[in-house]
Amino acid sequence: MSTADLLSRAATAAIDFLANVEQRPVIARGTAEEMRAAFGVPLNANGRGPEEVLRALIDAADPGLVASAGPRYFGFVIGGSMPVTVAADWLTSAWDQNAGLFVASPAAAAAEDAAAAWLIDLFGLPAGVSSGFVTGCQMANFTALAAARHAVLGAQGWDVEQHGLIGAPPVEIVVSAESHVTIYAALRLLGFGISRVHVVPADDQGRMRADLLADTMRGLSAPAIVCAQAGNVNSGAFDPLEDIAAIVHEHHGWLHVDGAFGLWAAASPAHRALTRGIELADSWATDAHKWLNVPYDSGLVFVRDTNAHRASMALIASYLVAADNGQRDAFDWVPESSRRARGFAIWAAMQTLGRSGLAALVERCCSHARLFAELLRREPGITIANDVVLNQVLVRFGSDDVTREVIARVQRGGVCWLGGTTWHGAAAMRISVSNWMTSAEDVERSVAAIVEAFHDLS
Ligand SMILES: *Cc1c(COP(=O)(O)O)cnc(C)c1O
Repeated sequence: MSTADLLSRAATAAIDFLANVEQRPVIARGTAEEMRAAFGVPLNANGRGPEEVLRALIDAADPGLVASAGPRYFGFVIGGSMPVTVAADWLTSAWDQNAGLFVASPAAAAAEDAAAAWLIDLFGLPAGVSSGFVTGCQMANFTALAAARHAVLGAQGWDVEQHGLIGAPPVEIVVSAESHVTIYAALRLLGFGISRVHVVPADDQGRMRADLLADTMRGLSAPAIVCAQAGNVNSGAFDPLEDIAAIVHEHHGWLHVDGAFGLWAAASPAHRALTRGIELADSWATDAHKWLNVPYDSGLVFVRDTNAHRASMALIASYLVAADNGQRDAFDWVPESSRRARGFAIWAAMQTLGRSGLAALVERCCSHARLFAELLRREPGITIANDVVLNQVLVRFGSDDVTREVIARVQRGGVCWLGGTTWHGAAAMRISVSNWMTSAEDVERSVAAIVEAFHDLS
């Protein structure tokens, strides 16, 4: 079979999958055991034809695929993929560019530079901040906090890249009680440890309390790195960034903002006010695979102090010739060396949507979240546990046990998928609307499935 025929078959299978993704049950049909059996065949001695292998791959995978690319997947914070981004991603694989260094792909470098410039403008970040394209917000948080580590220790005369953390001057780390788990992962990877952080309490919506941050900062004896967030993973709430920035900078600290999905609120005139003060931070982390709806994996980091960013990440080796003509090598700004050219799909998404399309995408998801809340709140016994300011809705069904059982039944039902969480010590259903395809009918169908599961129990 020719390369063209093989790739056409793959394209046909992908197109079929996407054409039916709305009709598929959202859950995977295959059990873990069935999936292990489907893939766990012996490694054959002499290989098989690619055509046969492609067929086998599709057949093995299908029962274990989750329709998270479809319009009724509301678990975690998971975006789908707009068709143009799938197309751009296919080309990215075919082109197989190493986006790590300029000389290996001037096209990938230029696409990333252009997309980063649009995003810096769209998010309202200060002109001149540096950027990096990473796998997701966890690595974006890691990269930003590595830059912070460089700067905060550098200000005390310590070169952390040369000398490491053993024997380094002290640094204080401040997070909120609602900081995302990936902040802790980043702190762990950076050698800060997670039990010595200062945790600032959050308010009823999950926003860091600025007054209590001020108290914490006053009690510190070393320079601090403070981690705030734009978009609480449960409630969607935003930390009061303007107040937080003023406090952090009064104490000469570094303010990092985790804006995995919340940063995208800045693209919408109706929601931009939530991000007030965001431009005052020192570093920002976000995802493209969530709200921009590009395929996995895709995240971005931005840093105000470009020297600290580069110093914490730069690769130095004799055979790696630095880019000239003012071009930059992407591997000097991210943890990875060789890397997928993620900029193409982001470039394609943003060109396709334009400013108004980006605003509409954000606003549509938020209005669907409000519709969820409005319809569910009408049912006696169902309560909405958060102010629905963005795309996140938290739902309670009386007791913890009933809430957990409703979630389990809805998940098994396959109409939609959503997960659970603990909110103020009580079980809650978490609904996140992040997919470009979701329609009001999808919300209505999903609400009907949720209400039915609840009524079956009561
Ligand atoms: C999703 C999320 C992250 C982690 O992002 P990944 O893309 O999974 O690496 C970090 N912070 C917040 C608030 C998130 O919602």
